[in-house]
Amino acid sequence: MSAVTPSPPAAPAEPSVASAPGGALAEVIADRAAGPDPVCLFGYDLDALARHAQRVVAPLPERCRMFYAMKANSAAPVLRTLAPVVAGFEVASGGEVAKARAVGPGIPVIFGGPAKTPEEIAEALRQGVTRLHAESVLELHRISRAAVAAGTDAEVLLRVNLAGPFPSATLAMAGRPTQFGIDEADLPDAVAAAVALPGVRLAGFHLHSISNNLSAEAHLDVLRMYRDKAAAWEREFGVRCEVLNVGGGIGVDYVDLDARFDWEGFTRGLADLVETFPDHVREIDFECGRFLTAECGRYAVEVLDVKRNHGTWYALVRGGTHQFRLPASWQHSHPFTVFPVEEWESGLPRPEVSGEPVTVVGELCTPKDVLAREVRVPRVRAGDVLVFSHAGAYGWEISHHDFLSHPHPEQVFLGDGGG
Ligand SMILES: *Cc1c(COP(=O)(O)O)cnc(C)c1O
Repeated sequence: MSAVTPSPPAAPAEPSVASAPGGALAEVIADRAAGPDPVCLFGYDLDALARHAQRVVAPLPERCRMFYAMKANSAAPVLRTLAPVVAGFEVASGGEVAKARAVGPGIPVIFGGPAKTPEEIAEALRQGVTRLHAESVLELHRISRAAVAAGTDAEVLLRVNLAGPFPSATLAMAGRPTQFGIDEADLPDAVAAAVALPGVRLAGFHLHSISNNLSAEAHLDVLRMYRDKAAAWEREFGVRCEVLNVGGGIGVDYVDLDARFDWEGFTRGLADLVETFPDHVREIDFECGRFLTAECGRYAVEVLDVKRNHGTWYALVRGGTHQFRLPASWQHSHPFTVFPVEEWESGLPRPEVSGEPVTVVGELCTPKDVLAREVRVPRVRAGDVLVFSHAGAYGWEISHHDFLSHPHPEQVFLGDGGG
Protein backbone atom coordinates (compact mmCIF):
# COMPACT_ATOMS: atom_id res chain seq x y z
CA MET A 1 0.00 0.00 0.00
CA SER A 2 2.71 2.48 0.97
CA ALA A 3 4.27 2.33 -2.49
CA VAL A 4 1.08 3.52 -4.13
CA THR A 5 1.09 7.17 -5.14
CA PRO A 6 -1.61 8.88 -3.15
CA SER A 7 -4.48 10.05 -5.30
CA PRO A 8 -5.36 13.74 -5.06
CA PRO A 9 -7.82 14.39 -2.25
CA ALA A 10 -11.42 14.21 -3.37
CA ALA A 11 -13.38 17.45 -3.21
CA PRO A 12 -15.23 17.45 0.10
CA ALA A 13 -18.86 16.51 -0.35
CA GLU A 14 -21.24 19.28 0.56
CA PRO A 15 -22.91 18.01 3.70
CA SER A 16 -26.66 17.71 3.77
CA VAL A 17 -28.75 20.41 5.31
CA ALA A 18 -31.27 19.07 7.77
CA SER A 19 -34.93 19.89 7.40
CA ALA A 20 -36.28 22.47 9.82
CA PRO A 21 -38.00 21.16 12.94
CA GLY A 22 -41.75 20.79 12.67
CA GLY A 23 -44.43 22.82 14.43
CA ALA A 24 -44.50 21.30 17.91
CA LEU A 25 -40.73 21.09 18.30
CA ALA A 26 -40.27 24.58 16.82
CA GLU A 27 -42.65 25.84 19.51
CA VAL A 28 -40.69 24.11 22.26
CA ILE A 29 -37.42 25.56 20.97
CA ALA A 30 -38.89 29.07 20.74
CA ASP A 31 -40.27 28.70 24.25
CA ARG A 32 -36.93 27.57 25.72
CA ALA A 33 -35.07 30.26 23.75
CA ALA A 34 -37.22 32.89 25.50
CA GLY A 35 -36.34 31.40 28.90
CA PRO A 36 -33.35 32.11 31.10
CA ASP A 37 -31.15 29.10 30.21
CA PRO A 38 -29.45 28.36 26.89
CA VAL A 39 -31.45 25.95 24.73
CA CYS A 40 -30.14 22.41 25.03
CA LEU A 41 -32.52 19.55 24.36
CA PHE A 42 -33.27 16.36 22.55
CA GLY A 43 -36.71 16.41 20.93
CA TYR A 44 -38.35 13.18 19.78
CA ASP A 45 -41.45 12.97 17.59
CA LEU A 46 -43.22 9.83 18.80
CA ASP A 47 -46.00 10.05 16.20
CA ALA A 48 -43.44 10.18 13.39
CA LEU A 49 -41.65 7.25 15.04
CA ALA A 50 -44.85 5.18 15.14
CA ARG A 51 -45.64 5.96 11.48
CA HIS A 52 -42.11 5.13 10.36
CA ALA A 53 -42.03 1.86 12.30
CA GLN A 54 -45.39 0.84 10.83
CA ARG A 55 -44.07 1.54 7.33
CA VAL A 56 -41.01 -0.61 8.08
CA VAL A 57 -42.95 -3.54 9.51
CA ALA A 58 -45.96 -3.59 7.15
CA PRO A 59 -44.20 -4.85 3.98
CA LEU A 60 -42.25 -7.62 5.72
CA PRO A 61 -43.04 -11.00 4.15
CA GLU A 62 -44.32 -13.93 6.16
CA ARG A 63 -41.86 -15.49 8.61
CA CYS A 64 -39.88 -12.24 8.84
CA ARG A 65 -39.98 -10.36 12.14
CA MET A 66 -38.63 -6.97 13.07
CA PHE A 67 -37.22 -6.67 16.58
CA TYR A 68 -35.98 -3.34 17.90
CA ALA A 69 -32.34 -3.31 19.05
CA MET A 70 -32.87 -1.05 22.03
CA LYS A 71 -29.25 -0.04 22.46
CA ALA A 72 -29.91 2.58 19.75
CA ASN A 73 -32.30 4.40 22.11
CA SER A 74 -33.89 2.82 25.15
CA ALA A 75 -35.87 5.81 26.44
CA ALA A 76 -39.16 4.56 27.88
CA PRO A 77 -41.42 6.65 25.59
CA VAL A 78 -39.55 5.33 22.54
CA LEU A 79 -39.94 1.74 23.76
CA ARG A 80 -43.64 2.26 24.55
CA THR A 81 -44.19 3.68 21.05
CA LEU A 82 -42.42 0.79 19.33
CA ALA A 83 -43.73 -2.06 21.50
CA PRO A 84 -47.12 -2.44 19.74
CA VAL A 85 -45.50 -2.24 16.27
CA VAL A 86 -42.39 -4.45 16.41
CA ALA A 87 -42.13 -8.18 17.15
CA GLY A 88 -40.23 -7.48 20.36
CA PHE A 89 -36.97 -6.05 21.70
CA GLU A 90 -33.40 -7.19 21.21
CA VAL A 91 -31.48 -6.51 24.41
CA ALA A 92 -27.83 -6.87 25.34
CA SER A 93 -27.68 -6.43 29.12
CA GLY A 94 -29.58 -7.11 32.30
CA GLY A 95 -30.45 -3.41 32.40
CA GLU A 96 -32.04 -3.65 28.97
CA VAL A 97 -33.99 -6.75 30.00
CA ALA A 98 -35.39 -4.70 32.89
CA LYS A 99 -36.29 -1.79 30.57
CA ALA A 100 -38.08 -4.18 28.21
CA ARG A 101 -40.00 -5.71 31.10
CA ALA A 102 -40.94 -2.26 32.42
CA VAL A 103 -42.72 -1.60 29.11
CA GLY A 104 -44.79 -4.76 29.35
CA PRO A 105 -44.42 -8.20 30.88
CA GLY A 106 -45.58 -9.93 27.70
CA ILE A 107 -43.35 -8.35 25.08
CA PRO A 108 -40.99 -10.85 23.42
CA VAL A 109 -37.33 -10.24 24.28
CA ILE A 110 -34.30 -11.74 22.59
CA PHE A 111 -31.04 -11.48 24.51
CA GLY A 112 -27.66 -11.02 22.82
CA GLY A 113 -24.49 -9.24 23.85
CA PRO A 114 -20.86 -10.34 23.84
CA ALA A 115 -20.18 -10.69 27.59
CA LYS A 116 -23.18 -11.81 29.60
CA THR A 117 -22.67 -12.55 33.28
CA PRO A 118 -24.07 -15.76 34.80
CA GLU A 119 -26.43 -13.63 36.89
CA GLU A 120 -27.71 -11.76 33.80
CA ILE A 121 -28.38 -15.08 32.10
CA ALA A 122 -30.24 -16.42 35.15
CA GLU A 123 -32.28 -13.23 35.47
CA ALA A 124 -33.10 -13.24 31.74
CA LEU A 125 -34.47 -16.78 32.13
CA ARG A 126 -36.49 -15.72 35.19
CA GLN A 127 -37.85 -12.85 33.09
CA GLY A 128 -38.94 -15.31 30.42
CA VAL A 129 -36.85 -14.09 27.50
CA THR A 130 -37.77 -15.77 24.24
CA ARG A 131 -34.24 -16.65 23.11
CA LEU A 132 -30.61 -16.15 23.96
CA HIS A 133 -27.88 -15.57 21.40
CA ALA A 134 -24.81 -17.46 22.59
CA GLU A 135 -21.42 -15.94 21.82
CA SER A 136 -19.04 -18.70 22.95
CA VAL A 137 -18.84 -22.30 24.16
CA LEU A 138 -18.34 -21.14 27.76
CA GLU A 139 -21.48 -19.05 27.45
CA LEU A 140 -23.40 -22.12 26.25
CA HIS A 141 -22.30 -23.88 29.42
CA ARG A 142 -23.39 -20.92 31.54
CA ILE A 143 -26.78 -20.87 29.81
CA SER A 144 -27.13 -24.61 30.34
CA ARG A 145 -26.29 -24.34 34.04
CA ALA A 146 -28.74 -21.48 34.59
CA ALA A 147 -31.52 -23.21 32.65
CA VAL A 148 -31.09 -26.49 34.52
CA ALA A 149 -31.12 -24.62 37.84
CA ALA A 150 -34.32 -22.86 36.78
CA GLY A 151 -35.87 -26.12 35.60
CA THR A 152 -36.39 -24.81 32.08
CA ASP A 153 -35.07 -25.14 28.52
CA ALA A 154 -33.41 -22.10 27.00
CA GLU A 155 -33.90 -21.57 23.29
CA VAL A 156 -30.54 -20.56 21.85
CA LEU A 157 -29.10 -19.25 18.60
CA LEU A 158 -25.38 -19.50 18.01
CA ARG A 159 -23.90 -16.18 17.00
CA VAL A 160 -21.35 -16.93 14.32
CA ASN A 161 -18.54 -14.63 13.25
CA LEU A 162 -18.44 -15.60 9.59
CA ALA A 163 -15.19 -16.24 7.79
CA GLY A 164 -16.36 -14.27 4.75
CA PRO A 165 -15.68 -13.17 2.10
CA PHE A 166 -18.73 -10.93 2.09
CA PRO A 167 -20.51 -9.97 -1.12
CA SER A 168 -19.72 -6.31 -0.46
CA ALA A 169 -16.40 -6.10 1.31
CA THR A 170 -16.89 -2.59 2.69
CA LEU A 171 -19.85 -3.59 4.81
CA ALA A 172 -18.50 -6.37 6.95
CA MET A 173 -17.84 -6.10 10.62
CA ALA A 174 -17.45 -9.86 10.93
CA GLY A 175 -15.02 -11.90 8.83
CA ARG A 176 -12.16 -10.22 10.69
CA PRO A 177 -11.07 -10.25 14.29
CA THR A 178 -13.74 -8.83 16.59
CA GLN A 179 -14.97 -9.84 20.02
CA PHE A 180 -18.34 -10.85 18.59
CA GLY A 181 -19.67 -14.33 18.13
CA ILE A 182 -18.09 -17.72 17.63
CA ASP A 183 -15.37 -18.01 14.99
CA GLU A 184 -16.84 -19.95 12.08
CA ALA A 185 -13.91 -22.37 12.35
CA ASP A 186 -14.98 -23.23 15.92
CA LEU A 187 -18.60 -23.85 14.99
CA PRO A 188 -18.34 -27.68 15.03
CA ASP A 189 -17.44 -27.61 18.75
CA ALA A 190 -20.10 -25.04 19.55
CA VAL A 191 -22.85 -26.97 17.77
CA ALA A 192 -21.77 -30.18 19.50
CA ALA A 193 -21.95 -28.43 22.89
CA ALA A 194 -25.31 -26.83 22.10
CA VAL A 195 -26.78 -30.18 21.08
CA ALA A 196 -25.36 -32.09 24.06
CA LEU A 197 -25.89 -29.65 26.93
CA PRO A 198 -28.99 -30.09 29.10
CA GLY A 199 -31.35 -27.13 29.26
CA VAL A 200 -30.19 -25.80 25.87
CA ARG A 201 -32.36 -26.07 22.76
CA LEU A 202 -30.47 -25.04 19.64
CA ALA A 203 -32.93 -23.24 17.37
CA GLY A 204 -30.60 -21.77 14.77
CA PHE A 205 -28.00 -19.16 14.03
CA HIS A 206 -27.41 -15.45 14.50
CA LEU A 207 -25.37 -13.65 11.85
CA HIS A 208 -25.34 -9.88 12.46
CA SER A 209 -22.31 -8.95 10.35
CA ILE A 210 -22.93 -5.54 8.81
CA SER A 211 -23.42 -2.04 10.08
CA ASN A 212 -24.92 1.12 8.60
CA ASN A 213 -25.42 -0.44 5.16
CA LEU A 214 -27.15 1.77 2.61
CA SER A 215 -27.57 -0.65 -0.28
CA ALA A 216 -30.70 -2.79 -0.48
CA GLU A 217 -29.01 -4.95 -3.15
CA ALA A 218 -25.99 -5.59 -0.94
CA HIS A 219 -28.26 -6.42 1.98
CA LEU A 220 -30.12 -9.00 -0.09
CA ASP A 221 -26.79 -10.46 -1.23
CA VAL A 222 -25.69 -10.84 2.38
CA LEU A 223 -28.99 -12.51 3.30
CA ARG A 224 -28.57 -14.95 0.42
CA MET A 225 -25.14 -15.78 1.79
CA TYR A 226 -26.65 -16.31 5.28
CA ARG A 227 -29.28 -18.66 3.82
CA ASP A 228 -26.60 -20.72 2.11
CA LYS A 229 -24.39 -20.80 5.20
CA ALA A 230 -27.26 -22.02 7.38
CA ALA A 231 -28.17 -24.72 4.85
CA ALA A 232 -24.55 -25.89 4.69
CA TRP A 233 -24.31 -26.10 8.49
CA GLU A 234 -27.55 -28.05 8.65
CA ARG A 235 -26.04 -30.64 6.33
CA GLU A 236 -22.66 -30.64 8.01
CA PHE A 237 -23.90 -30.90 11.60
CA GLY A 238 -27.24 -32.65 11.16
CA VAL A 239 -29.14 -29.86 12.91
CA ARG A 240 -32.16 -27.80 11.90
CA CYS A 241 -32.11 -24.05 11.64
CA GLU A 242 -35.64 -23.04 12.60
CA VAL A 243 -34.74 -19.45 13.40
CA LEU A 244 -32.24 -17.39 11.47
CA ASN A 245 -31.37 -14.01 12.96
CA VAL A 246 -29.98 -11.72 10.26
CA GLY A 247 -29.21 -8.85 12.63
CA GLY A 248 -29.59 -5.13 12.03
CA GLY A 249 -27.32 -2.82 10.11
CA ILE A 250 -29.80 -1.05 7.84
CA GLY A 251 -28.14 2.32 7.44
CA VAL A 252 -28.76 6.02 7.49
CA ASP A 253 -26.52 8.26 5.36
CA TYR A 254 -25.91 11.29 7.58
CA VAL A 255 -23.86 13.10 4.95
CA ASP A 256 -26.33 12.61 2.10
CA LEU A 257 -29.76 12.42 3.68
CA ASP A 258 -31.40 11.83 0.30
CA ALA A 259 -29.47 8.57 -0.15
CA ARG A 260 -32.00 6.51 1.76
CA PHE A 261 -31.96 2.76 2.11
CA ASP A 262 -34.61 1.52 -0.34
CA TRP A 263 -36.78 -0.39 2.14
CA GLU A 264 -39.62 -0.98 -0.34
CA GLY A 265 -37.23 -2.43 -2.91
CA PHE A 266 -35.52 -4.46 -0.22
CA THR A 267 -38.73 -6.00 1.09
CA ARG A 268 -39.86 -6.85 -2.45
CA GLY A 269 -36.58 -8.70 -2.99
CA LEU A 270 -36.92 -10.23 0.46
CA ALA A 271 -40.34 -11.67 -0.40
CA ASP A 272 -38.77 -13.58 -3.29
CA LEU A 273 -35.77 -14.60 -1.22
CA VAL A 274 -37.88 -15.93 1.66
CA GLU A 275 -39.63 -18.25 -0.81
CA THR A 276 -36.29 -20.00 -1.28
CA PHE A 277 -35.89 -20.79 2.44
CA PRO A 278 -36.89 -24.30 3.52
CA ASP A 279 -40.26 -24.66 5.26
CA HIS A 280 -38.72 -25.60 8.59
CA VAL A 281 -37.25 -22.09 8.92
CA ARG A 282 -40.12 -20.71 10.96
CA GLU A 283 -38.66 -17.31 11.68
CA ILE A 284 -36.25 -14.88 10.05
CA ASP A 285 -35.49 -12.21 12.63
CA PHE A 286 -34.27 -8.70 11.98
CA GLU A 287 -33.04 -6.62 14.89
CA CYS A 288 -32.66 -3.03 13.72
CA GLY A 289 -31.76 -0.04 15.83
CA ARG A 290 -30.54 2.91 13.80
CA PHE A 291 -33.01 2.47 10.95
CA LEU A 292 -35.99 2.57 13.30
CA THR A 293 -35.15 5.51 15.57
CA ALA A 294 -32.55 7.75 13.90
CA GLU A 295 -35.02 10.00 12.18
CA CYS A 296 -37.44 10.66 15.05
CA GLY A 297 -34.91 12.59 17.14
CA ARG A 298 -33.42 16.10 16.94
CA TYR A 299 -30.76 17.72 19.07
CA ALA A 300 -31.23 21.47 19.55
CA VAL A 301 -28.42 23.55 21.04
CA GLU A 302 -27.97 27.28 21.46
CA VAL A 303 -24.95 29.04 20.01
CA LEU A 304 -23.10 30.62 22.95
CA ASP A 305 -20.39 32.29 20.91
CA VAL A 306 -19.14 32.78 17.37
CA LYS A 307 -15.51 33.56 16.61
CA ARG A 308 -12.73 33.14 14.11
CA ASN A 309 -9.51 31.42 15.09
CA HIS A 310 -6.56 31.13 12.70
CA GLY A 311 -8.84 31.63 9.73
CA THR A 312 -11.57 29.14 10.73
CA TRP A 313 -14.99 30.21 11.92
CA TYR A 314 -16.38 28.46 14.97
CA ALA A 315 -19.87 28.35 16.42
CA LEU A 316 -19.63 27.22 20.04
CA VAL A 317 -22.76 25.65 21.47
CA ARG A 318 -24.21 24.71 24.84
CA GLY A 319 -23.79 20.94 24.55
CA GLY A 320 -21.47 18.89 22.34
CA THR A 321 -20.15 15.41 21.84
CA HIS A 322 -20.64 14.49 25.53
CA GLN A 323 -24.38 14.61 24.73
CA PHE A 324 -24.29 13.74 21.04
CA ARG A 325 -21.23 11.62 20.31
CA LEU A 326 -22.56 10.20 17.04
CA PRO A 327 -20.72 12.55 14.61
CA ALA A 328 -17.47 12.07 16.52
CA SER A 329 -17.80 8.30 16.49
CA TRP A 330 -18.51 8.18 12.74
CA GLN A 331 -16.20 11.12 11.93
CA HIS A 332 -18.83 12.97 9.95
CA SER A 333 -20.31 16.45 9.85
CA HIS A 334 -23.78 16.02 11.27
CA PRO A 335 -26.56 17.78 9.33
CA PHE A 336 -28.23 20.71 11.05
CA THR A 337 -30.37 23.70 10.36
CA VAL A 338 -30.22 27.17 11.94
CA PHE A 339 -33.22 28.19 14.01
CA PRO A 340 -32.97 31.99 14.20
CA VAL A 341 -33.65 33.65 17.53
CA GLU A 342 -34.18 37.42 17.39
CA GLU A 343 -33.91 38.25 21.10
CA TRP A 344 -30.48 39.32 22.21
CA GLU A 345 -29.28 40.85 25.42
CA SER A 346 -28.96 44.57 24.76
CA GLY A 347 -25.59 46.17 25.33
CA LEU A 348 -23.62 43.06 24.37
CA PRO A 349 -21.91 42.54 21.02
CA ARG A 350 -23.58 39.83 18.92
CA PRO A 351 -20.99 38.05 16.80
CA GLU A 352 -22.13 36.28 13.64
CA VAL A 353 -20.80 34.61 10.52
CA SER A 354 -22.52 34.66 7.12
CA GLY A 355 -21.80 32.69 3.98
CA GLU A 356 -18.52 31.25 5.29
CA PRO A 357 -17.75 27.68 6.30
CA VAL A 358 -18.33 27.27 10.00
CA THR A 359 -17.22 24.51 12.35
CA VAL A 360 -19.69 23.68 15.11
CA VAL A 361 -18.08 22.71 18.40
CA GLY A 362 -19.32 22.02 21.90
CA GLU A 363 -18.46 23.17 25.38
CA LEU A 364 -15.80 20.57 26.18
CA CYS A 365 -12.14 21.43 26.68
CA THR A 366 -10.93 19.19 23.88
CA PRO A 367 -10.46 19.89 20.16
CA LYS A 368 -12.30 16.63 19.42
CA ASP A 369 -15.61 18.13 20.53
CA VAL A 370 -16.77 18.77 16.94
CA LEU A 371 -20.34 18.24 15.72
CA ALA A 372 -19.94 19.55 12.17
CA ARG A 373 -16.90 20.75 10.28
CA GLU A 374 -16.67 23.64 7.80
CA VAL A 375 -20.30 23.76 6.82
CA ARG A 376 -21.43 26.77 4.81
CA VAL A 377 -24.60 28.29 6.25
CA PRO A 378 -26.31 31.54 5.31
CA ARG A 379 -25.87 33.03 8.80
CA VAL A 380 -25.21 31.92 12.37
CA ARG A 381 -25.34 34.36 15.26
CA ALA A 382 -24.63 33.91 18.93
CA GLY A 383 -28.06 33.24 20.43
CA ASP A 384 -29.39 31.28 17.44
CA VAL A 385 -30.22 27.60 17.93
CA LEU A 386 -28.73 24.82 15.80
CA VAL A 387 -31.01 21.86 15.28
CA PHE A 388 -29.31 18.60 14.36
CA SER A 389 -31.58 16.06 12.66
CA HIS A 390 -31.37 12.23 12.71
CA ALA A 391 -30.32 12.28 16.34
CA GLY A 392 -32.73 9.61 17.59
CA ALA A 393 -30.35 6.63 17.44
CA TYR A 394 -26.91 6.37 19.06
CA GLY A 395 -27.11 10.03 20.11
CA TRP A 396 -27.59 10.61 23.82
CA GLU A 397 -27.33 6.84 24.40
CA ILE A 398 -23.68 6.46 23.44
CA SER A 399 -22.39 9.73 24.90
CA HIS A 400 -20.16 10.37 27.91
CA HIS A 401 -22.67 12.60 29.69
CA ASP A 402 -20.70 13.68 32.73
CA PHE A 403 -17.37 14.56 31.21
CA LEU A 404 -16.83 18.16 32.45
CA SER A 405 -20.00 18.07 34.58
CA HIS A 406 -22.19 20.26 32.40
CA PRO A 407 -25.96 20.08 32.90
CA HIS A 408 -27.76 17.39 30.94
CA PRO A 409 -30.01 18.32 28.03
CA GLU A 410 -33.76 18.32 28.44
CA GLN A 411 -35.44 15.25 26.87
CA VAL A 412 -38.67 16.27 25.16
CA PHE A 413 -41.07 13.64 23.83
CA LEU A 414 -43.72 15.04 21.51
CA GLY A 415 -46.92 13.27 20.49
CA ASP A 416 -48.37 10.15 22.00
CA GLY A 417 -46.90 7.59 19.59
CA GLY A 418 -50.38 6.61 18.52
CA GLY A 419 -49.49 7.02 14.84
C1 LIG B 1 -26.11 -2.98 17.52
C2 LIG B 1 -26.69 -4.26 17.15
C3 LIG B 1 -27.86 -4.30 16.37
C4 LIG B 1 -28.50 -3.06 15.81
O1 LIG B 1 -27.68 -2.49 14.85
P1 LIG B 1 -28.22 -1.27 13.95
O2 LIG B 1 -27.05 -0.99 13.08
O3 LIG B 1 -28.54 -0.16 14.87
O4 LIG B 1 -29.40 -1.75 13.20
C5 LIG B 1 -28.42 -5.53 16.10
N1 LIG B 1 -27.86 -6.68 16.57
C6 LIG B 1 -26.74 -6.67 17.32
C7 LIG B 1 -26.19 -7.96 17.82
C8 LIG B 1 -26.12 -5.48 17.63
O5 LIG B 1 -25.01 -5.48 18.35
